[in-house]
Amino acid sequence: MELYELTIAQAHELLQKREISSVELTRSVLQRIETVETKIKAYLRITPEEALAQAEKADQRRAQGEDNPLLGIPLAIKDVLCTKGVETTCGSRILQGFVPPFDATVVAKLRELGSVLLGKTNTDEFAMGSSTENSGFFTTHNPWNLEHVPGGSSGGSAAAVAADECLGALGTDTGGSIRQPAAFCGIAGLKPTYGRVSRYGLVAFASSLDQAGPLCKDVKDCAILLQAIAGHDPKDSTSANLSVPNFVEALQPDVKGMRLGVPKEYFTEGIDAKVAEAVHAALDVWAELGAEIVEVSLPHTEYALPVYYIIAPAEASANLARYDGVRYGYSYPEAKDIWDAYRKTREIGFGAEVKRRIMLGTYALSAGYYDAYYLKAQKVRTLIKEDFDRAYQQCDAIIAPTTPMPAFRIGERVDDPLQMYLGDIFTLSLNLAGVCGISIPCGFADGLPVGVQILGDAYDETTILRVAYAYEQATEWHLQKPPL
Ligand code: GLN
Repeated sequence: MELYELTIAQAHELLQKREISSVELTRSVLQRIETVETKIKAYLRITPEEALAQAEKADQRRAQGEDNPLLGIPLAIKDVLCTKGVETTCGSRILQGFVPPFDATVVAKLRELGSVLLGKTNTDEFAMGSSTENSGFFTTHNPWNLEHVPGGSSGGSAAAVAADECLGALGTDTGGSIRQPAAFCGIAGLKPTYGRVSRYGLVAFASSLDQAGPLCKDVKDCAILLQAIAGHDPKDSTSANLSVPNFVEALQPDVKGMRLGVPKEYFTEGIDAKVAEAVHAALDVWAELGAEIVEVSLPHTEYALPVYYIIAPAEASANLARYDGVRYGYSYPEAKDIWDAYRKTREIGFGAEVKRRIMLGTYALSAGYYDAYYLKAQKVRTLIKEDFDRAYQQCDAIIAPTTPMPAFRIGERVDDPLQMYLGDIFTLSLNLAGVCGISIPCGFADGLPVGVQILGDAYDETTILRVAYAYEQATEWHLQKPPL
């Protein structure tokens, strides 16, 4: 086994025993990047010198007796998270050249623990998309089939993990952007409860939905990485002032007597037969392990998509007003006056999908339409949240497909935004309800990975980690590697 193939937990054990050094581990991963990155294109920016310097520092810290599960572990960071001194573009041309003078809190936490940061991963522009095809720079390729998308918007992070170009990565999830690419790339990805993780330095897309979280080779690594980034942050008033449980200790491979809910609304039209089959087979595994499978209902599921595509663009249109060419990144150089400068900067700087969302959002918020669209969407959002509250009275966690179908072909959906949005059908409700979820691999359809989602109640990440871990211990999907 090559060092780059290790999970975080495996690498930590070897580092602890002094069988390997962080420098050796980091060199191995950088070498792997050099070998496969031209095919995958997971990274917008790789910072090898900084990474090796951090690895050396980590080895020194360990030599002085320090230890933690992330000390010396090479990780990748989605490019919507601010990194001090390293360009952060959010996959957008409008932010080209923007070098943040500060770290996002999640990044700062990883640095304090002594992780090695390899670089910034590709994303749909401002995290708006499901395939990385909306990146202002290039499309990332799915390691399982290079002609297919890796999913999005955290497609760079997911592909980097799946291709062993890092040991783990951070992504963000506003409507599925951690879970969907994790499913498409055959890895584990966890969206924490809204408020569990600080959003400080996460460049805002939709502030009431955005949440950062881990994408990893297995469930245990997700627990380790979540542990590192979770917790209250005085710099983000929406981060909850709650104690953080021990997520790693919660990993008991035991679901006996647990009640797992299956929402009947999730297995209807539009779902690929092979995906449904794989998810049903996963349910059988949990049943064999002693869980009780119960039917639940999330009756407002059909409204999640229209509600999300009003609320998310509305918030985006407000958040993106700040890119005026004055404060950050790109600025149109030959403007006649200030209005011309704003107009041209935004016209050239933003891609088509971002402009579409700004228009949708501005429309939904404008006088006369606010009540009909935005306000109504907020009301239905409450109904969706209440669906989950009711369901969790009947079960400990909910099981659902992550996506209706496996990774689609690059280019297949770019001209049809509605078709692209429809793929988010199973992931969006969770963000609207503010609860948590994890996607783990549960099979293949036509050679492409299929993901199953375990959804939990607010601040109940320990339960979904446990349910996921039990499944993983009983199966071998997470051990499959793409033939690169
Ligand atoms: N695919 C969804 C969208 O395009 C979700 C994106 C995300 O979670 N950042 O908005």
